[in-house]
Amino acid sequence: MSNQRNGFSRREVLMSGATATAGAILGASLHSEDADAAEAKGKKKKKVPQVPTRVLGKTGQRIPILLFGAAFRLNPVFDPLLAEALRYGVNYFDAADCYAGSTCEAAVASFHKRIHARSKLWLTSKSDLHDPTGFEKRLERSLQRLQTSYVDMYYLHALKDKSYLSPALARKVAELKKKGKLRYFGFSCHSHNVVELMNIAAKLPWIDSIMFRYNFRQYGDKALNKAIDACHRANIGLIAMKTQGSSSSFEPKWKQFQKKGKWNKFQAVLKAVWADPRITASVSHMDTFQKLRENIAAACDLQKLTQIEVEELVRYAAATRSLACNGCEHICNPTIDANVQIGTTMRYMMYHDAYGQQEEARELFAQLPQEAQNLANIDFSAATAACPHNIDLNYHLHRAARILT
Ligand code: SF4
Repeated sequence: MSNQRNGFSRREVLMSGATATAGAILGASLHSEDADAAEAKGKKKKKVPQVPTRVLGKTGQRIPILLFGAAFRLNPVFDPLLAEALRYGVNYFDAADCYAGSTCEAAVASFHKRIHARSKLWLTSKSDLHDPTGFEKRLERSLQRLQTSYVDMYYLHALKDKSYLSPALARKVAELKKKGKLRYFGFSCHSHNVVELMNIAAKLPWIDSIMFRYNFRQYGDKALNKAIDACHRANIGLIAMKTQGSSSSFEPKWKQFQKKGKWNKFQAVLKAVWADPRITASVSHMDTFQKLRENIAAACDLQKLTQIEVEELVRYAAATRSLACNGCEHICNPTIDANVQIGTTMRYMMYHDAYGQQEEARELFAQLPQEAQNLANIDFSAATAACPHNIDLNYHLHRAARILT
């Protein structure tokens, strides 16, 4: 893919996007032979801005700074959002074996098969099984579903238990790389022990990349910054996720901050992450053309956030702190005499409220143990008292009991 670091403006991207939908679907539907034939006839393809690229750590590979997060229901035949993303150079699709009711990988496969573009794409997927045998089993299933002989990256999905980063897994990864089934390996993490896992990974030469929860709320977090430094020094490719740092039920606050600068809040938080040279890219949930184009516009415009915009973000983070959950549920869960999963439930509420993923949020919640779903009659006052953000958990979790079931 192009590694052009261009200076296209936000307006140019949005203008080029104005006619993009039909063009993208049509253009990307064209088999490359058709495209070649069109070129041979002297027809010039319309040039659109390309999202800048950066090198992903020790992989040495350039990837776009904006990655397509595919954790929602894609069109199983041909997804036009993938086509539109690809048109702008967003050729990295972030899948997982479990995304969207396990439909994600097959939809990505249909897309790349339809346009014969496997070699032009970076496909990442993830395994929910973390032991060496389970990991290989899931990889084989992902390869089948993705209809490809290799994945560019395969992650342990949502790693929590550090003991899985074992010599046995290292040997399995080396074996699978040798067989050509995966090019690079790493893990994703977003729980309470992100810092611990990153510090461990920095000492393991077989970890190529980490996708971790990182957003503007954490800029002053010294321990996290040290862990990022350690991974950066070890040349581990770092990808930020959950960049919106979103919270549940924060719509009114959000609106107050929306109009203060050149960028809306979604774009501003992405630009804040890209301003960190230690981070290669940010994965983003772009389930509408508007979100996709806005994020592409933010990526293609090389202008940095202004001081005023940075201050607005800091102010916004402070104003919504009591609504934002960090996932540190080892603090709040033990205060309740029931098998609840507070941080996890709050994350599903974030999917529901901030990401607009109502269906997925309900599906995920339904997969929790029954006891973790029975929230309506529990008094969460002790959990609120323990929470470092003092989140009103009676309000949020009783609401979760109503809207996620
Ligand atoms: S509710 Fe508070 S203590 Fe519990 S996971 Fe969220 S931020 Fe951490």
